[in-house]
Amino acid sequence: MAEGTVLIIGAGGVGSVTAHKCAMNDGVFKKIHLASRSIAKPNAIKNSIKVRTGVDIDTHIVDADEVSQVAGLIEKVAPEVVINVALPYQDLAIMEACLTAKVPYIDTANYEHKDKAHFEYKQQWAFHDRYRKAGILAVLGAGFDPGVTNAYCAYALKHYFDTIRFVDIVDANAGSHEKAFATNFNPELNLREVTQAVRHFDNGKWVETPAILEKDSIHFAFDYPFAGPRESYLLFHEELESLAKHLPGLERIRFWMTFSENYLTHLRVIRNIGIDSIEPIDFQGQKIVPMEFLKALLPDPASLAANYSGKTVIGCIVTGLKDGQESTKFIYNICDHAETFKEVGSQAVSYTAGVPPMVAAMMVMQGKWAGAGVYNVEQLDPDPFLQSLSVNGLPHEVIDYHPLPAKI
Ligand code: NDP
Repeated sequence: MAEGTVLIIGAGGVGSVTAHKCAMNDGVFKKIHLASRSIAKPNAIKNSIKVRTGVDIDTHIVDADEVSQVAGLIEKVAPEVVINVALPYQDLAIMEACLTAKVPYIDTANYEHKDKAHFEYKQQWAFHDRYRKAGILAVLGAGFDPGVTNAYCAYALKHYFDTIRFVDIVDANAGSHEKAFATNFNPELNLREVTQAVRHFDNGKWVETPAILEKDSIHFAFDYPFAGPRESYLLFHEELESLAKHLPGLERIRFWMTFSENYLTHLRVIRNIGIDSIEPIDFQGQKIVPMEFLKALLPDPASLAANYSGKTVIGCIVTGLKDGQESTKFIYNICDHAETFKEVGSQAVSYTAGVPPMVAAMMVMQGKWAGAGVYNVEQLDPDPFLQSLSVNGLPHEVIDYHPLPAKI
């Protein structure tokens, strides 16, 4: 293992931010390797990093669906930590390769099978005993949400409460990219996420409610700091699963995300004509996957950055008890699309997702997050993580607040 060496796998919108931010912390990340399944994107990021920071990084081709290829690359570059910001489909293969090489693993999204959108940690948590026995750490879901939102809950528990009763996670993109329709991160992942069945955790049970496109979907105008009232839809998001498991005594947790009427209208058309399907179809003698065809037609999320204005606002409204007294805190971050573009050439959605895995890698390399096994972010010390995020572009505010109603 070469001290200060990081291997980043995935060179999309998120990987670009992670690599730039590692280069901006070259006192910690002394050698940066960036790998993806083809070389054009890693090389474009390498050039941007050289121009912006003067730092040279190494780029590689790897098919991260193949454990042997990832293991071979790990052996070659000997990283102190691997950051997986490829797609959720590669999580298990990269975890397996890290285990073989005994190198810590970090990702930002739970494993999904390519043929079935199913959001759960089961298959990654199943690695826990093997990681523990091997004496290495895996940190799951270290993006913004999941990731920083989990750390906000851990911070609230550590500093304000003895127990947490209710959590509402709110996520607004109050920005405009001037395209008729585009997704802010990988379109396939984005559409799979927002068209799934909606679940939230209430009184010890998972409650299913209509998906966001259905007429009975649950939504309300939440008044975001800076952004003002924005229609926010109840959605399942993967941190609900780990937080419901790891926050002792939690009674209710929900996740809300803003969608504009324009976005929903496009989504309805996409859904109605079936072009979001992941079932292959025959087209003029060839098999094509409609969703992959749609992805090829839609703007590359990275290309939105240059004209993006406005901000993202993401945070946790946490109600808990301290010495028997109930109170509520709202912990949130505001991030500006134009400022992140100026800093690293990316929009704020990629930025908020790409900075935290860099900071998580820093925590592991500096021994601030230690241990052996597979952990979600809320199981690790939130203080050094949030402190480091604050000086690396993602500061947070904590304000006194009020609980959201149980019924919306
Ligand atoms: P992109 O599609 O922009 O980038 C994915 C990258 O992974 C591309 O470089 C792609 O290569 C590469 N890749 C895909 N398959 C393989 C493979 N088999 N082997 C090697 N590399 C591969 O995605 P995003 O950057 O938008 O998202 C990256 C990750 O971040 C996703 O897992 C997403 O779920 C997660 N995310 C997490 C968030 C959070 O807050 N927690 C928020 C947003 C995203 P190619 O260019 O050839 O396609």
